[in-house]
Amino acid sequence: MAGIIRKLDETVVNRIAAGEVIQRPANAVKEMIENCLDAKSTNIQVTVKDGGMKLLQIQDNGTGIRKEDMDIVCERFTTSKLQTFEDLSGIATYGFRGEALASISHVAHVTITTKTADAKCAYRGSYSDGKLKGTLKPCAGNQGTQILVEDLFYNVSTRRKALKSPSEEHSRIVEVVSRYAIHNSGKSLCVKKQGETVADVRTLPNASVVDNIRVVFGNAVSRELIEVSCEDQKLAYKMKGYISNANYSVKKCILVLFINHRLVESSALKKAIETAYSAYLPKGTHPFLYLSLEIAPQNIDVNVHPTKHEVHFLHEDSIIESVQRHIESKLLGSNSSRTYFTQTLLPGLSVSGGTDTKTSSTSAESTERVYAHQMVRTDCRSQKLDAFLQPKQKTNLQLEPGPGPSSRELENQTMQDEIDEMNEADDAEMMAALTELTDVSKDKGEGGIGKNDSQRKRPRIEQQEEDEELTAAAVPKRRVIKLTSIKELRAEIKENTHKGLQEMLQNHSFVGCVNPQWTLIQHHTKLYLVNTTKLSQELFYQIMTYDFGNFGVLRLSTPAPLYDLAMLALDCEESGWTEEDGPKEGLAQYIVDFLKRKAEMLEDYFSLEIDQEGNLRGLPLLLDKYTPVMEGLPMFILRMATEVNWDSEKECFRDLCKECSMFYSIRKQYILEPESGEEQDSEANSWRWKTEHIIFKAFRNLICPPQTFSEDGTVLQIANLPDLYKVFERC
Ligand code: ADP
Ligand code: MG
Repeated sequence: MAGIIRKLDETVVNRIAAGEVIQRPANAVKEMIENCLDAKSTNIQVTVKDGGMKLLQIQDNGTGIRKEDMDIVCERFTTSKLQTFEDLSGIATYGFRGEALASISHVAHVTITTKTADAKCAYRGSYSDGKLKGTLKPCAGNQGTQILVEDLFYNVSTRRKALKSPSEEHSRIVEVVSRYAIHNSGKSLCVKKQGETVADVRTLPNASVVDNIRVVFGNAVSRELIEVSCEDQKLAYKMKGYISNANYSVKKCILVLFINHRLVESSALKKAIETAYSAYLPKGTHPFLYLSLEIAPQNIDVNVHPTKHEVHFLHEDSIIESVQRHIESKLLGSNSSRTYFTQTLLPGLSVSGGTDTKTSSTSAESTERVYAHQMVRTDCRSQKLDAFLQPKQKTNLQLEPGPGPSSRELENQTMQDEIDEMNEADDAEMMAALTELTDVSKDKGEGGIGKNDSQRKRPRIEQQEEDEELTAAAVPKRRVIKLTSIKELRAEIKENTHKGLQEMLQNHSFVGCVNPQWTLIQHHTKLYLVNTTKLSQELFYQIMTYDFGNFGVLRLSTPAPLYDLAMLALDCEESGWTEEDGPKEGLAQYIVDFLKRKAEMLEDYFSLEIDQEGNLRGLPLLLDKYTPVMEGLPMFILRMATEVNWDSEKECFRDLCKECSMFYSIRKQYILEPESGEEQDSEANSWRWKTEHIIFKAFRNLICPPQTFSEDGTVLQIANLPDLYKVFERC
């Protein structure tokens, strides 16, 4: 029996059609956010109850709806956005053409409150099945529009039943809002549950795209992003966005894709992207991408059903291929520099534990079974032949060893012993030293403790008196420094030590210099990039603090006039000299006079020799065979006079040690790469040798790395052997 064909009731037809257009709360939210953006809103707030099924409220600060349009806004094919037929092709990408509000009003109770800029008050109207119910009511309100959608699908039970749980629907809404927030950075979007004060997502009006990605997806991804942008005139498309680099991966691919400012999906594009990343990411992990494509509107397929997020467009294959190529090139480019921004992971070794790190780590090793993938084919103790081939010294310096580290290896344990050994500082002596330091401004009278007061007692003199006859003149005896300030500086170093990092430096294998600033080392199965500049500066600072008053001398073969050095420094941009500081000549003379007054102390404690004519004659010998790069000397002299706090003993010693260690550190700016073809022994090349055979050798037993180095990027883990195996497995 043939069924009787009947014309369906119009409201039923509308309802079914609406249910097709608005399949779930998140679709409605998306449509309404787009309306807000079309109305030039800069602030959009979404409030949700029960996953949007009970209530959805979208408030904006846009242009508002004119009172005379309020009767018909919810009718199908009503739009303020098309004026002529020609407009259609331009706006066709939006798919709906006046269908969204109408559809929503067929399946929910809709209330619109709106005010335009020139209206005297706001108006409120309620809608059902596309029609205004009753009359518009004038009310108070700010410029903009609020659309309230209640009891979504109250009249379409099939649709209601097809929905997932409220929490699932809620998270879909949050997803839509946060993606539009990323795409519309510069505007403020917010989504929250009704009654809650804390928003699920809130972006700020002046935030950048990356800021918003951080808000939505977290810091881990936002700091591993590469900016992308490309354009193809022939294919009539533009693309820009941010993609994660090879350091970052997630379990599921996240592709935030906008085509012509509409959130869409494209499985074809996703597949192409995954292919590009497969060469860079570990098996089974995926990237994050935010891409905004603009395609000539006439090339977008408008026949695709509006709710189908899947889009298709003309030249789809070619455009996808072009985007894929661009992403590949960006990944390749980022691969070489990616290490600089990676996590500051540390050797997982005992951060707690006692002082005796060496023995504890070896015993731990012996009890643990070592698997093949954990085995390391290098021995950190092995020597390389070039250790014996020291490059020619080009500097005109002669070494004059002191009792400092040049004649012994300073073990960290020794340092502790020294601290313990030291007695309380003699107050009188300390006061004397302090007086000398603090009388910077005062003129030294004859009777004062001035530069000529060579009879003044120093701790050294007292200490050495009894031993002097016993020791041979050839080996200077190490004097014990009793100054509280120095003891405190030493204790600070000790307290601040990162044990895990120290163990790593003690047992590392040197891999190679990247440049003067960065060096690669290996420890167990991990590869680290370490900041040579920062570490070497810390090393020299610590040597200066521990060997205070006990340095050998690097004697200059020709004394260097402080005046000339100061003038050289003032000529540098780095000095920051301006006209207002007065003539350079006057400043330079002041620096000479000032340092001459400090000469005795500088020589006694720092082996910095300055003669009465104002010449620099000697520098402290901090590490055997190590000479600082002399290009840094003028700035060091200038900074000694300007950057050191000479008013407090502890600050003064700390600052002097800091300035001197900066001068001695391995630094980029004073080391120029040699021109190709120059001889190997050149000064420019010797930093490599110094870094490997002096600096990193000293790191093994002379440095107590501070905690901060584990967090500030001074030491970065860039690869782990077992992880690398995983990468190779895929080949
Ligand atoms: P379309 O966006 O395709 O025009 P809609 O059904 O989404 O169709 O919206 C119908 C009309 O209602 C819009 O053209 C616009 O004039 C008005 N409108 C809807 N939402 C807003 C809003 N938030 N601010 C201002 N006008 C709006
Ligand atoms: Mg719309």
